This record gives sequence, structure tokens and C-alpha cells, in this order.
Amino acid sequence: MVAALAPYAANESYSRGRKYDEPGSLYRGEYQRDRDRIIHSTAFRRLVYKTQVFVNHEGDLYRTRLTHSLEVSQIGRTVAVALQLNEPLTEAICLAHDLGHTPFGHAGQDTLNACMRDYGGFEHNLQSLRVVDVLEAKYADFAGLNLMFETREGILKHCSARNARELGDVGERFLERKQPGLEAQISNIADAIAYNNHDVDDGFRAGLLSLSQLREQVLFATCFDEVHERYPDLEDRRLIYEIIRRMIGAVVSDLIEETRNRIQAASPGSIDDVRNAGKPLVSMSDAMYEKHVSLKKFLHRHLYRHEQKLAMTREVQAMVKDLFAAYMEDINRMPGQFAAAASAADGADRARVVADFIAGMTDRYAIAAHETLTA
Ligand code: MG
Repeated sequence: MVAALAPYAANESYSRGRKYDEPGSLYRGEYQRDRDRIIHSTAFRRLVYKTQVFVNHEGDLYRTRLTHSLEVSQIGRTVAVALQLNEPLTEAICLAHDLGHTPFGHAGQDTLNACMRDYGGFEHNLQSLRVVDVLEAKYADFAGLNLMFETREGILKHCSARNARELGDVGERFLERKQPGLEAQISNIADAIAYNNHDVDDGFRAGLLSLSQLREQVLFATCFDEVHERYPDLEDRRLIYEIIRRMIGAVVSDLIEETRNRIQAASPGSIDDVRNAGKPLVSMSDAMYEKHVSLKKFLHRHLYRHEQKLAMTREVQAMVKDLFAAYMEDINRMPGQFAAAASAADGADRARVVADFIAGMTDRYAIAAHETLTA
């Protein structure tokens, strides 16, 4: 399995390993095991009912956190294999990157963060690490999934200095200003490529983005012209798919080429050279990055901040706020294990139990829980 890996790829033979020693597997590599543990986790199954951009009940065809994570993993694996990097590790990080996401997407996360202001805040990326390190209760011998260091390193994309100090090993790089391995860097960009593209599709499907609006974007317009010239009579839905597959292809090819050049220039001999490189080696070219960011800003303006989305945002923000206040006021409104954990804690620790409970909710669970509060 490790024969074709580049010397600077993550390699389980040189890994910083697991927190708790475990015997190896007969049939799988260590990063494959991590990926499989993530797939079998409770948090992973919940992603199917968590909002990406559209709340779950808005329609069956929109991306959910689960399908988003699968698309991120598809893009990440393509890039990893093309660059002779560790595919199972890349897949594991991609599949786990949103495990800590709250219900209702960013509106949910921002509201929970505001509720937690006096108790250390709430950050969905940090929560993804907390899910795999602490919250998943699957093993007799330890809490969490006991993942490999490199998988945990990849899941934690950003972190404040205060949190970094508390996290120990996996927080060190934020204090020492180092980079994570290339597989982690890939997962980070694959996330942005995936949502930029699938949000065009979902936004168009919802009728919130129009073809003429989208054609103001260089990346979209270039692919539109290409498809339109070849298939002048194509119906809109097929047209959009043909455009999106070309956009993904263009960005991913650029990412692979540019990263290959940067790796060649830096000539790292190991994953530690990658960590010490000073800046990320996985990158699009400047020209492509500009188009990518322009599309991202366009989506912010016209989709994420669309009046129809903002109305939904206000509604779900109020829900999360009510839930937090209600559980803080009476911890016994939470299910047994959370109520017990909360009663054994106080202050910020008690609030953290409430935040863990709310963050774990799916959209529809949160809506139902809110209904029982007001019933
Ligand atoms: Mg994501």
C-alpha cells in the first residue's frame, strides 16, 4: 500500500501514531482504519440530516453535510492520487472535516458561538476534532475514535492560540506557525472547491441564481461558452451539469499542476519538511485562485445572503438560542447521558455539555426539540 507514496507523503511507518496503542489490523492500513472508524461513527450518520446551505426540509435534492463531505472526499482523493500522496488519509480527513457542524449550517454555528461567548465560544472545526477525540463513545478502552495523529492534524484546520495550548500535540503547529501535511492541505482546498461548485448547482436548482447572473463569473462564463458552442440547444439542467463538471475539472487540474510545481521548487524530503515549509505547498495558481475567490464572493452576495436564505437564517437562529437558554435553565430537559454529564459539571463545563448536545442535533431533531419546548 505504501510503495507508490512520495517521500513527503504521510506514511504510517513514520506516523506520530495513536494516543492509545492498539494492535495493527491484518487487512487494512492505519489510515484506512481511521476512515472506516469515521464512516461507522454516529456523527457521520447524522450528517445526512444536517444543512449545507439549504435546510434539510427545503428539498430532497440539495446537498446535505453528508453528500457535501462525499464530494469533498472525491476531489481530495483525485488530487492525492495524482500527487502520490496518501489517499486513505486524505479520504479520512475529508469525510471527518464537518463532523462537528451544528444543525442549520453556519447560522447554527454562529448562534451557538454567540450563546457560548462567556464559556469559551463554539467553533465547528474544533468541534469536529472534539467529536473524534472525545464525544464518540464506541470503544471499551478509550473515549473517542483514537485516530492517527495525521488524521487529527488534518481535521483541525484553524485554532486560536488559547485553544491550541489546551489541545497539546495537535495544537502545536498553530503556536509554532507550522503547516500540516499535504493530505490535510488538500482536504482544506477540496472543501472550498466542492462547495463553490455544488452551491452553484443548488442555487440554480432553487431558482435563487440565474444563468445570466452566473455568466458574470469568469470561471462559469468560460465553461458556459465552451459548452454552448458545442451543444447550442442543450436544456438548462444538462447545461449546468456540463458547466460544473468543467469548472471542477479546470480548478482541480490547476491545483494539481501548481502544487506539483511548488513541491518541486521546495523539494521536501519528508512530511516534516512539508510542515516546516513556511507556507502551504498545496495551492492553485494565482490566476485560478482569483477566479475561485470571485465565485465564492458571488455566492456570498447572491446565495448565502439571499433574502429567502436570510429569512430562514433568522428563524433557525432563534431556535438555537431558545434551545441553549432552555437547557442551561433546566439541564434535565436534555436526554439522560447529557443531563448526567451536565449535573456533574458547572460553569463553562456545564455549558460545554449543552453545546455538545445542541451541536450534535440534526436539523429535524432540533426543530422537534424546539417544538417540545414551546408545546
Ligand atoms: Mg465543508
